[in-house]
Amino acid sequence: MKFQSTRNKNLRLDSAETIIKGLSDDGGLFVPVEIPVLENGEISELSKLGYCERAKRIFAKFMTDFSEEELLGCAEKAYTENFEDEVPAPIVKLGEDIYMLELWHGPTCAFKDMALQILPHFLVKSAKKAGDGKKTVILTATSGDTGKAALEGFCDVEGTEIIVFYPKDGVSKIQKLQMQTQKGKNVRVCGVAGNFDDTQTAVKMIFTDENIRAVLAENGKSFSSANSINVGRLLPQVVYYISAYADLVADGEIEDGDVVNVAVPTGNFGNILAAYYAKKMGVPFGRLICASNANNVLTDFLSTGEYNANRDFYLTESPSMDILVSSNLERLIFELSGKDDEYVGKAMKDLREHGKYSVSEDIITKIKEVFAAGFTDDEGAENRIKMLFDEYSYLCDTHTAVAVEVYEKYKAETGDCRKTIIASTASPYKFPRAVLKSISGEIEPDDFEAAKKIEVLSGLPMPKQLSELSEKEPRFKENCKREEMAEFVLSTVGGDR
Ligand SMILES: *Cc1c(COP(=O)(O)O)cnc(C)c1O
Repeated sequence: MKFQSTRNKNLRLDSAETIIKGLSDDGGLFVPVEIPVLENGEISELSKLGYCERAKRIFAKFMTDFSEEELLGCAEKAYTENFEDEVPAPIVKLGEDIYMLELWHGPTCAFKDMALQILPHFLVKSAKKAGDGKKTVILTATSGDTGKAALEGFCDVEGTEIIVFYPKDGVSKIQKLQMQTQKGKNVRVCGVAGNFDDTQTAVKMIFTDENIRAVLAENGKSFSSANSINVGRLLPQVVYYISAYADLVADGEIEDGDVVNVAVPTGNFGNILAAYYAKKMGVPFGRLICASNANNVLTDFLSTGEYNANRDFYLTESPSMDILVSSNLERLIFELSGKDDEYVGKAMKDLREHGKYSVSEDIITKIKEVFAAGFTDDEGAENRIKMLFDEYSYLCDTHTAVAVEVYEKYKAETGDCRKTIIASTASPYKFPRAVLKSISGEIEPDDFEAAKKIEVLSGLPMPKQLSELSEKEPRFKENCKREEMAEFVLSTVGGDR
């Protein structure tokens, strides 16, 4: 299996090489040349296996330059000790039709752990296979959750350094504390004056800047990315969708072959793209429901085919979805355009130069066959948190609530009441003020006080890795302007840290 760039389909690399590089030199994203298909009866076989064995089998279809032992070893290191339970991604059933796929039982309490706990292991192995002996500098922009999950995953991993930039006023207090208190010799964290899109755009520019890359090379280093543009992040996300379907079969909730919908709270389009890949592999997924908050650029795109990022940007209670430029959409457009790299290159140029692009009627039609899209504001999400709490004593976070709310609207509008997997992306304790306000109406300005009150109301304990933050001293308090990010990178990559 090879991977090609969405902007140059003749470039063909092994998975190890794409994982090391992160982003293609032409600015494109790597995609599998062919999406592999599950064999007949394979889902039923998978349903009898544990998570790591399932992961191994699925990875093996994409990462043919790794041995099965290596893949299983990576999965076991990632998903055994660092997750609360034996099952890394448990499913909770609500009512008749909703299955909450809880992806946040890892060390940083958000779904990003599912990929970022394994990516460092992939990267270390990839460097041995295909590396040039250079040290890897992981450069990451975060809307809140990726940053901490990447820091945790790469902390003190040999042969790596990691630099995380976050929008200084665009993440929750707990998210910021999680990053500022990160331990490890090889980590650096910096706030940026600007929103996530500014931060992500600047990071992408640093990535492809010849001068900066030359300085890195002089120091025996090269860049890679822990953002969802890295194939090594996408594949572990494909695994949990296939695994969730296999779990529903194993638990007798569905028969193998039954069609199930999937609803995903979406920002950078990475998580829902993984569901799309799972569907392409042959998992009987029906509609993929793309849920947005007030930053609803994807809702408009998926319904009209026009992507227009020239619009107001809102800071919401679901900050990890406060994104107007969804990078992974490029992969979907590549696929739906019949792998037309020129077409993709042109659309992305329009996006860079004019903040917008449109896709053809043909692509819109194909999108509508698979996707449904909707959005809700903070109030809609908060009401949904309360409804789930009152009806099922179930507590969900603000991002997941967006997905449930959009799903319920979809169901009411279409009458499609098929069983639906909701990607539950964060622990409610990552956003305690908003969650408390939703369930009790109380406004408590302090996150940790709010969390204590939720514990009393719900009986659900706050995860220790979040509660202990209240006693930790921030280690990284630096902030910089967008124009200063390159300098910050250069100041950290010189010499040996
Ligand atoms: C990152 C994140 C999202 C958005 O996921 P994408 O892959 O960027 O679409 C949703 N919810 C939470 C809690 C997140 O951390």
